[in-house]
Amino acid sequence: MFRAAHYHKVTLSLPMPWIRRRSLPSEDRHAARLREVYHAMRSSTRYGQSLDLGESAKWADVPSIDLLEFLCHTDRYTDASAGSANREELVYPVGRAPRTAVVGRDVKQTWRVRTFESLLDEKLWRFKPHAIAAPADSLRCYAQDSGAAPLRNAVIAFSDILQGPLSFEDSDRLWAAYQVPVFEQFLGLDGELLAWECEIHHGLHVREDAALFETLVDERLMISFLANPRLPLLRVETGLAGRIVKEPCPCGVNSPRIVDLHRRPIKRRIAAHEFAVAAVG
Ligand SMILES: [Zn+2]
Repeated sequence: MFRAAHYHKVTLSLPMPWIRRRSLPSEDRHAARLREVYHAMRSSTRYGQSLDLGESAKWADVPSIDLLEFLCHTDRYTDASAGSANREELVYPVGRAPRTAVVGRDVKQTWRVRTFESLLDEKLWRFKPHAIAAPADSLRCYAQDSGAAPLRNAVIAFSDILQGPLSFEDSDRLWAAYQVPVFEQFLGLDGELLAWECEIHHGLHVREDAALFETLVDERLMISFLANPRLPLLRVETGLAGRIVKEPCPCGVNSPRIVDLHRRPIKRRIAAHEFAVAAVG
């Protein structure tokens, strides 16, 4: 039995052909995807091969991965035989995307959605975007250094595990600079979308085919990555905290939401008195 903390049971021993998978209810598709990632991790990464887990393993038996350990030894966790993920479409938070410039993320281009190297790219501004989607850092720096031009529709700020989530202050600053609503989109390690903010602005909707979010004690957040064939990572300890809510969102999307996402304070490894002793010793 293989049980995910916030989802129904899945078993490891029932491989499902892809042709059936497409017609499965979304919860079963999610379970099937979890199982595929688990098998890819076990069979194709040095980390997975070193784990002592049998076919009767439960989800709780899958150990968590320390983020720093992963960053220092990425090759251990990489499936070198996997192809790259398909290019994703930009998820626009409200209705259809207007003329939108995307920076720092390789999404599918359409006649309304175009990708650019940087916010400093003159071609971007000649495109006359009504909305901009870019890494939060880039949006902040551009607003600070170049005096951001007001937009017509929205700013989408990309955040991720390493950069950390958007703070209220960030949102306010971006709102003041670009004079449009700000929507956060939380990305995975290769830029795949994991969670996104809707017009209700109460938490981030989890993209369930791309991520499983779990919370532990102290609201510590773990993420399993389901849409990154290169990195079949399960249960990464992110250093972030948040709460998962499942109540339906007034926007009409029923996926779970991560609310109050924030970086956990770093615990000092040396207690204050020990530090004092070390300092004088
Ligand atoms: Zn919503």
